[in-house]
Amino acid sequence: MNFSSQRYLLFDKLHFTPSSLKAIGKFLRDLKSTNSRDSFTRFHSARHPPGNVPTLGYYSTNTVPPKYPADKETVNVYTEAVKINNKVAVAIICNSSVETIFSQAVNLSVNTTTTQAELIGLKLALKYVRETHFKNCAIYTISSSAVSSCTSEEKITKTASQCRQLLYDSNHKTSLHLIKTLKRGEGQLAAQKLATSCTNSPESVDWSLGALKNSIATSLQKAWEDEWRFGKTGTHTRKFFPTPPDASCLMNSYINHELTQILTGHCSLNRHLHKIKKVSSPICQCGQEEETVNHFLFNCSIFSEQRIPFQEACRKASTGFPPQLDAIPKTKELWEALKCFIQESKRLKLRGTELRQ
Ligand SMILES: [Zn+2]
Repeated sequence: MNFSSQRYLLFDKLHFTPSSLKAIGKFLRDLKSTNSRDSFTRFHSARHPPGNVPTLGYYSTNTVPPKYPADKETVNVYTEAVKINNKVAVAIICNSSVETIFSQAVNLSVNTTTTQAELIGLKLALKYVRETHFKNCAIYTISSSAVSSCTSEEKITKTASQCRQLLYDSNHKTSLHLIKTLKRGEGQLAAQKLATSCTNSPESVDWSLGALKNSIATSLQKAWEDEWRFGKTGTHTRKFFPTPPDASCLMNSYINHELTQILTGHCSLNRHLHKIKKVSSPICQCGQEEETVNHFLFNCSIFSEQRIPFQEACRKASTGFPPQLDAIPKTKELWEALKCFIQESKRLKLRGTELRQ
């Protein structure tokens, strides 16, 4: 196919037909994707694996860097992250030999740590450096943890990995400087000021994906809790799980129909069957009282033997017997013992089968 499409391109005397155009289109698309794949996979090839680059160099300095670089072919980039009143922001200031030519500030989600913020600052700086025409780019930061995570640490985060790739990419023109002195230079102070003003901005909205996810999760959780608390149905289930987080034991666990019956109260125990007019009496077979969920779980003499491990678990968990229903899901051993008891008693299984017959 390539051969024929190259021929079409090289010998324009050939007649163009719909099928020849199709061939040329494919040839050009293949060419384009090969080229873009090359530039993308350069760092993933065996020769340049970013994850396997053991270290990338940086300079440590005790001197305060100048606000503007001395020569015209250099740009100084200062990064600084701030965390004020639960607001996190990071800013970069890029200075040529005469003026500030670029600056950028970003608000970050509240749970961003300062090191993560500093690392994001480095990424912004490295992205700027990649695009700039300056022949020498000096990036200055005061965060040793950010520098080490994108130059030497073995286990690295996604941001650190991206920084490492960017740094590797522009290594020929970039130098990374870690400022060890406590005194901040003018460039550093300008970046700090910009980041601070970013956190102060009343309209500042954190549009990062992490922040949006957090905000959606919080709203959903709140809506769910309200619905659960003020719901008119599920009174019995709420005795086991007063709030949605109490039901975390149900996550990633198989809930069979017998357990569902106990948790919902819609079960094949006589009290419920009588309520829905399936049996004539709500009294248990043992004859002691109405066959409620509580009677079945804690009192019924028919299942005394099967109940022993459950009672033992309650004793170990110091909940007393019978325990409060909401205490059961909170302790893993009790929850498992409850499931075992329901299973071993076969009470709900038997009646279910009988009912189906
Ligand atoms: Zn009974």
